[in-house]
Amino acid sequence: MIRKYIIAGNWKMNLNATEGVELIKGLSNYAKQTDVTVVVCPPFTGLDRAGKALEGSNIQLGAQNMHTEKSGAYTGEISAEMLRHLFCGYVILGHSERRTYFAESDEFINKKVKVALANSLKPILCVGETLQEREGNKTMSVIEKQVREGLTGVTAADANDVVIAYEPIWAIGTGKTATPEMAQEVHAAIRKLLIDILGTEAANKVRILYGGSMNAANAADLLAQKDIDGGLIGGAALKADTFGKIIDAALALSK
Ligand code: PEP
Repeated sequence: MIRKYIIAGNWKMNLNATEGVELIKGLSNYAKQTDVTVVVCPPFTGLDRAGKALEGSNIQLGAQNMHTEKSGAYTGEISAEMLRHLFCGYVILGHSERRTYFAESDEFINKKVKVALANSLKPILCVGETLQEREGNKTMSVIEKQVREGLTGVTAADANDVVIAYEPIWAIGTGKTATPEMAQEVHAAIRKLLIDILGTEAANKVRILYGGSMNAANAADLLAQKDIDGGLIGGAALKADTFGKIIDAALALSK
């Protein structure tokens, strides 16, 4: 295993700060292990208390978004510096819900990726196609544009810190999962693209996560694929029991 699995929970707009701390307490069995990188991404309002609840734990803290600017008149926004101040190590960028509901462009997402890296935050860059695009045989052209534009200016030196999440939009929150073979096909194509962009050595370091209705039942088969290096999990990350089972699947494959 050349790449350590990352199992990241995207809580989206769920769980208040108190509920978030409760969920973190439920993950205490995983606080000391080092074989799998576990990340939790609460809403902004839960980050401070989640960070305190994670003190002394190996579980990492991530945010779900950030702005490109350091500070200023950007009502409602949060900067990379503010996230670092709360000990965030990761930030999800370009999630399809941000692209769809908040019209985030590849160019804007790319700026965020670069600002995140400059501030020692590991970006989890999300890419993925709609059902219409898949049915129109456009999956790879859509993914290629999102990956190339999302990573513009990123270099081989960043390979250990950049994470990509392939999240087919038709599989997010729908209960429909890409089959392990379907997911592997796209992950392998992303790896090939990364070789072109960053070179082989660097491309082999980049973790490519799968996201889209990953759960306790399907995680092991997805994670067993050669180019699937972890998961970005929404619904199943909201309960310690189901999230824990996904971490267990990654731990079993890490041995
Ligand atoms: C997500 O939103 O990143 C996600 C993968 O959600 P779900 O697991 O609920 O499909």
